[in-house]
Amino acid sequence: MDSVKVKFLQLDQTDTLAKFRPEFFIPKNNLGDNTIYYCGNSLGLLSARAEKGVIQELEDWKKYGVEGHLQAENPWVHYHEFLNESMAEIVGALPSEVVMMNGLTSNLHFMMVSFYRPTKIRNKILIEYSAFPSDRYAVESQIRFHGFDPKDCLIILEPELGEDYISKENIAKVFEIHGESIALALIGSVNYYTGQAYPIHFITKIAHRYGAQVGFDLAHGAGNLLLHLHDDGPDFAVWCGYKYLNGGPGCIAGCFVHERHHDRPDLPRFSGWWAHDKKSRFKMSSKFELMKGAEGWQLSNPPILAMASMKQSLSIFHEAGMQNLRKKSIHMNSLLTSLLVEWDHPSISVITPQNIDENGCQLSIRLRQPDKSIFVALTNQGVIADWREPDVIRIAPVPLYNNFEELITFFNKFKQIVENYG
Ligand SMILES: *Cc1c(COP(=O)(O)O)cnc(C)c1O
Repeated sequence: MDSVKVKFLQLDQTDTLAKFRPEFFIPKNNLGDNTIYYCGNSLGLLSARAEKGVIQELEDWKKYGVEGHLQAENPWVHYHEFLNESMAEIVGALPSEVVMMNGLTSNLHFMMVSFYRPTKIRNKILIEYSAFPSDRYAVESQIRFHGFDPKDCLIILEPELGEDYISKENIAKVFEIHGESIALALIGSVNYYTGQAYPIHFITKIAHRYGAQVGFDLAHGAGNLLLHLHDDGPDFAVWCGYKYLNGGPGCIAGCFVHERHHDRPDLPRFSGWWAHDKKSRFKMSSKFELMKGAEGWQLSNPPILAMASMKQSLSIFHEAGMQNLRKKSIHMNSLLTSLLVEWDHPSISVITPQNIDENGCQLSIRLRQPDKSIFVALTNQGVIADWREPDVIRIAPVPLYNNFEELITFFNKFKQIVENYG
């Protein structure tokens, strides 16, 4: 065995997080061997714990029917509260600032109902270049909903021409030009395409200085980056539960509302009975009494089966610790980046920034000559990654269930495929 491979195997032996990998179901290839699953940024894997958690709720439903709302082992009426603390820990928030509900795009809309309140002079929304399409559709529809035109009201935070990297200067510049007319800045961090983690603290400060509200889409950030939402102070944030958080396909999403907005009955919002003060919710009064905190943005009683897998998955994060996860992720990421940089093949470039404050698990590798067959060959060799049009392969080694050995195996396969294609 070559010495590089030995080094990677040794790293697995001393990895204190290695004990979590056996808890996860790693998809197999046709021969029954583990694939290299580098798609945790798109759909995280199922853990045995999450599977058991869902079965538990099915059993309680079987046993109790409607009484399960109070009698189940985890009484369903309070279910979302069981998730608040561990979720808050992951995103660096107070438990009262976090609630799990709906889907990501739905939460984004509900947040914009409260935090995008355009006026004649301040009506623009700032989003980043190559924002995730759903965010863009949501934002454009909100602009139209208020009777404005996205042509006038949507501003894109752009990198320099021909680049992918968005610098603090780019951010400062867009606010200098448009700051007085920006009502809301909505930025995704990590960017799904380039893998760049944008500076949440910096963007929040500058947006607030110009009098804009600011929200973050952390679909690719939650369970990946070390986040400090309370201290960094954005007005809101949203994220999904099925990417790094391993909640399962279409799982319940997350929402953060900063404490400063917790007692704001003046903020417009779309309400439902789950936003009603829980002490008197079941009096079923026609008079609405708003609950304080992020929970006051809920509408419906939540989907317990989705909450159940999420609850178990969050317990794994709690045991592993975000600090440790991020540390391993940085280590894996820098090893893989060094291999790619040292190899220095003319057909590829890594567009994800290499500075550890500006990346997460994901590495976006651009093929200089867009050729999807390289990606297809990788898939055929048991690497599950993903392809983003027009020219990017995204690789996301995830610290909870990926190991160091896979890095070198992946690299050797990738190298061989690219070199064979010339
Ligand atoms: C994954 C992702 C979404 C998906 O939205 P859903 O409402 O969960 O379907 C939206 N925005 C970003 C930035 C994403 O990465």
